[in-house]
Amino acid sequence: MGLAQLEGRRNRQTVRKGDRKMGKLLAVCAAVVWCLLPFRGAADDPATLPESAVKYTRPVKAPDRQWPSAAGDASVCLWKGDRLAAFSITIDDNNAPDHPFWTKMGETYGFHFTWFVITERPGTGGFWGTWDDFRKLHQLGHDIQSHTVSHLHGQYTIDEEYRLSKEKIEQEIPGHRVRTLAYPGGNHEVKNDPAIAAKYYLGARGVAGFVTPAVNMPYMSTGSQGGGIFTGERSTLESFLDPSHRNYRGWHICLFHTAKEDARARIEEGLKRVKEHEADIWVGTFTEVLLYARERDAAKVAVVERKPEKIVLSLTDGLDDALFDIPLTVKVRLPDGWKTCVGSQNGKAVSCSVVEREGARYALVDAVPDRGQVVLAQQ
Ligand SMILES: [Zn+2]
Repeated sequence: MGLAQLEGRRNRQTVRKGDRKMGKLLAVCAAVVWCLLPFRGAADDPATLPESAVKYTRPVKAPDRQWPSAAGDASVCLWKGDRLAAFSITIDDNNAPDHPFWTKMGETYGFHFTWFVITERPGTGGFWGTWDDFRKLHQLGHDIQSHTVSHLHGQYTIDEEYRLSKEKIEQEIPGHRVRTLAYPGGNHEVKNDPAIAAKYYLGARGVAGFVTPAVNMPYMSTGSQGGGIFTGERSTLESFLDPSHRNYRGWHICLFHTAKEDARARIEEGLKRVKEHEADIWVGTFTEVLLYARERDAAKVAVVERKPEKIVLSLTDGLDDALFDIPLTVKVRLPDGWKTCVGSQNGKAVSCSVVEREGARYALVDAVPDRGQVVLAQQ
């Protein structure tokens, strides 16, 4: 039951006898408000978000790659493509003079980045860029998300900072959805509030410098690392791939402000190195990785049919399908005779590759939860 429904119930209980009409009106109003809430549904009600969604807890050991043992058995991979760790670049405070540099980096390495935009600034000066600039980045596949309206400079309540910035970006970039936020850092009169952020966003980048764990991820307050790409003493690339390290299988979220001329060679070096490790490190936008984690944590995969010539799976997550639409990678142990595999979901072809380990073959199939049955067959 949502807050508005509870309110509606309370409202109904407190109306005096004879005020039935008013009571009905209130109930209708409450129902209307409930329908208009941006992220309704039990899973996304801020009141039902677990404490772990906002609070960092020391990471528990992340599971190793899973290798289902019987033909047809399936498991959801911790990260897309069954990679070991995840990596995102986020750029704050608009930083228009750096757009050409980042655009070139994106094209050269085939990566996409997330801009967290202060939405009242575009059009007010060169550094802040224009909405045309951000539409262009969006067209190139980059991710444009919110860094509040004013960076919490005091004219707006925290609710307005979160709500109006989301509305503004979605209005300026038609068809684009704003689902994540980066909390402004610094000491402001107006304070960040993850519970209010959760009314409008599915996840948020926090202001603390910890490595974001894959397990028990604080969705509404992730960590982030400034300074460089796997350059921190406590966030070396090797540590994310080392089963004995606490960073193992974690998510390196890089935070950039300006990328000055003298820092660019080092950034490019970092990207080149990540590219060399792309088989083990998933490079996704902040929003992609965050959504993947939330869907994965809620996902259930079940074998519906297990036949010599085909395997049918159901993949569900119980989340709002209008908001959670990122494909998850499911690993399926193939029957012994299968050398190849094609996948489809709800009759449409989906990405499917075959990997081998110790003489057994496994399919890695990408499917979106709650979008119909997943069927695997030999080619
Ligand atoms: Zn900022």
